[in-house]
Amino acid sequence: MDHPKIVDVLVVGAGFSGLGAAIRLTQEGFNDLVVLERGSDVGGTWRDNSYPGAACDVPSHLYSFSFAPNPDWSRAFSPQGEIYDYIRRVTHDAGVREKIRFGVDVTAVEFEEDRGRWTVRTSEDVYDARVVVLGVGALCEPKRPDIDGIDDFDGPVFHTARWDHSVTLADKRVAVIGTGASAIQVVPSIAPQVSHLDVYQRTAPWVLPRMDRKYPEIERAAYRRIPGLQRAMRALQYASREFQVVGLTRTRAALAPIKALGRAHLAMQVRDRRLREKLTPTFEIGCKRILLSNTWYPTLARENVDVITEPISRVTKDGIVTSDGVEHPSDVLVVATGFHVTDSPFFDRVRGADGRTLADRWEDEGMEAYKGTTVAGYPNLFVLVGPATGLGHSSMIYMIESQLNYLLDAMRTMRDRELQTVEIRRAVQDAYNRELRDGIGDTVWVSGCRSWYLDAKGNAPAVWPDFTFAFRRETREFDLSAYTRTPAATARAGQEVGR
Ligand code: NAP
Repeated sequence: MDHPKIVDVLVVGAGFSGLGAAIRLTQEGFNDLVVLERGSDVGGTWRDNSYPGAACDVPSHLYSFSFAPNPDWSRAFSPQGEIYDYIRRVTHDAGVREKIRFGVDVTAVEFEEDRGRWTVRTSEDVYDARVVVLGVGALCEPKRPDIDGIDDFDGPVFHTARWDHSVTLADKRVAVIGTGASAIQVVPSIAPQVSHLDVYQRTAPWVLPRMDRKYPEIERAAYRRIPGLQRAMRALQYASREFQVVGLTRTRAALAPIKALGRAHLAMQVRDRRLREKLTPTFEIGCKRILLSNTWYPTLARENVDVITEPISRVTKDGIVTSDGVEHPSDVLVVATGFHVTDSPFFDRVRGADGRTLADRWEDEGMEAYKGTTVAGYPNLFVLVGPATGLGHSSMIYMIESQLNYLLDAMRTMRDRELQTVEIRRAVQDAYNRELRDGIGDTVWVSGCRSWYLDAKGNAPAVWPDFTFAFRRETREFDLSAYTRTPAATARAGQEVGR
């Protein structure tokens, strides 16, 4: 085997989180860095989710890096292509593209305690890294539904996050399984072209009006020319979103106006009583991500669209059979069934100091980290978009930037104190998570619905249960005293300090 490539920092993934890490680290002089990306371009989820209608439901000025504002967003909610272009432009402008190795699949990330370093195996080379930053994302591994017979379907079957653009939908009978944030964008976009569309709904989501609008040139010029204006707009968007946290985590009554808006939206857009009943949510608003659309309900009321609420029994080669025995013929099957979040297959590839994988650890003990970022038993590993960082109401980029502050301060601390490794103390991590769990019991996310925030045991380890500024505050500085550490000079002997 060839000698491993030695690198100081290895970042896995070139989506918003991995790129953010690469940009901030190189800006701070941590230049000995490589980013490994399995795809052929940057962009992560915004590269992969190219389905018709894909767009962001967090306002554009907020859904961007604070260090790379874009006055040229074309509308309040950016379409996927524009966000993808933004990520590519930011990568180019920051000069980090040359640090990225594309088409490289990371197959194993293993900590070697005697050397205090990580060995990272890939489809191409082996790397030997001091620090590993996981930027693999939370919503990156499509979850295909485990439905009897689905592999025997005669026509194309694809997930929204792996849209098959070679398949023509015009004049076809199409089935879409799922009614989450992805389906709600796909369905209105394809309904006008297909001959018939069946939408399989297991749970009726809460849907609010989408306050989207085009930004006229004069407004964009103002963002370019008036100092602080874009920042003020971002702050306004942030504050209005953050207000929801009161209702989501503390006072359920604060959700009442949002709920009333959702009910009114449905009543105004769907005149047919039977359809309205089917589309009326039966769980607490906010328990699942609140969806935004002005076209979802009118699309479901179209002549060529049926909403099927009978559970799916099986898939045949010609279509879908529901529990009432009816076979619904289809030519194309689109699965909009979400992602492996708490059970991402990538966690199987990461082995800590005791040889255990993150997947095993998190399956047994729950998906836990310290401040969403570091994990006891996995020294010098920084997990971006890690446990308890997920949001439904605001921008994940805000959370990522908070984690990057923490990562950067950890790197500076290790450099200044000449440390080889830092590892969060188990007791500190446990106490931190006990507090999180205590807080989560009162939140809306555990009020009895099914969502990607929850794990198989019904706990909600993926979601941040507080105001996002509280997370920003707690990740502002790296708290070295919470960590055990090894000094650079003695790491090879496995000596520890700071116990
Ligand atoms: P999702 O929210 O997890 O929704 C999956 C949908 O598939 C749900 O309606 C679910 O029903 C249904 N489903 C799953 N398995 C099924 C089965 N076996 N049979 C029938 N139905 C099944 O996934 P998503 O829509 O892809 O969205 C995931 C997340 O991605 C979002 O919450 C959001 O964070 C992000 N996203 C964001 C945007 C954006 O605008 N920023 C757009 C798209 C996605 P149940 O509800 O009954 O479980």
